[in-house]
Amino acid sequence: MALSDEQKEEIAAQRSQTNQTRRATVQGMEDHLYTAYPVLDHGFIRVIDYMGDDNAITQAARVSYGKGTKSVQNDEGLIRYLMRHWHSTPFEMCEIKLHVKLPVFVARQWIRHRTANVNEYSARYSILDREFYIPAPEHINAQSVINNQGRGQVLEGEEAARVLDILKTDSERSYDNYESMISDEGQNGLARELARMNLPANIYTQWYWKVDLHNLFHFLRLRADAHAQYEIRVYANEICKIVADWVPFAYRAFEDYRLGGAQMSATALDCVRRMLKGEAVTQENSGMSKGEWREFEGAIK
Ligand SMILES: Cc1cc2nc3c(=O)[nH]c(=O)nc-3n(C[C@H](O)[C@H](O)[C@H](O)COP(=O)(O)OP(=O)(O)OC[C@H]3O[C@@H](n4cnc5c(N)ncnc54)[C@H](O)[C@@H]3O)c2cc1C
Repeated sequence: MALSDEQKEEIAAQRSQTNQTRRATVQGMEDHLYTAYPVLDHGFIRVIDYMGDDNAITQAARVSYGKGTKSVQNDEGLIRYLMRHWHSTPFEMCEIKLHVKLPVFVARQWIRHRTANVNEYSARYSILDREFYIPAPEHINAQSVINNQGRGQVLEGEEAARVLDILKTDSERSYDNYESMISDEGQNGLARELARMNLPANIYTQWYWKVDLHNLFHFLRLRADAHAQYEIRVYANEICKIVADWVPFAYRAFEDYRLGGAQMSATALDCVRRMLKGEAVTQENSGMSKGEWREFEGAIK
């Protein structure tokens, strides 16, 4: 991640400011504010703003006038109850605004999460930087043979070198052509909104992304999951660390019930009951398909 000296100065200036407020603040988030945390080769995530804390969740659930007299244990217990029983709206009382720099092909997956507010860097108005995501050698994999939507063995030797070379040279060539098409300072240069169509999907874009905690948890549940593509998962993992410092009770409940937990169908639950009685349950007598059984075994073993 290469931040220019000017960008570093802007961040330092923002971080040097202190404002007085009656609003609840969280020290963990105050520490994160504005700092750019590197993700992938040129990307980052930084917190621009946030609203609410664990207390905002319990306050909303109780519709109380202030902090109330409930103990910290009660607060965590209530948050766990809300998470366990899918009471979503109290979590919507907390919001976070992030500045994210990410490759376009990652942005395309990310933008599918419609319940956020987004403002993206305009490549009609501005010129995109010469920055492309080039995977580290350990993340250049062959197509998976078991999962059509995944990757398998790491490519090695000549094949890895050949792929890396294609990615680098195509990216550079596309950018050279982009620059040459828009380079004319006079009237003859191609409009930026048109020139950008020739850029590859590994070029970096940036956006401000604001979302409430309930929908952020939904995003993290899907994108911090092992089935999510590595290149979006690393962003989700970085956000998880920030959220753990922001709303520790809510994050612990999320980790327990959603990230680390598993959902079971009535058929699967029945199999667990039969197993507890000592019955030999197999895929054939389980009532589950092979795929369901594989996932069931994955969850309980
Ligand atoms: C591993 C993985 C693989 C994927 N593969 C594909 C793929 O091959 N092709 C593909 O197209 N997508 C794919 N997706 C994207 C996926 O289908 C969802 O679009 C994405 O995860 C966003 O989820 P969401 O709609 O629940 O989130 P959000 O848009 O944040 O919505 C949250 C919830 O709000 C409600 N909601 C929001 N907007 C509406 C609306 N307009 N109408 C009704 N309800 C709404 C829904 O209940 C929704 O679940 C994949 C996602 C993952 C995690």
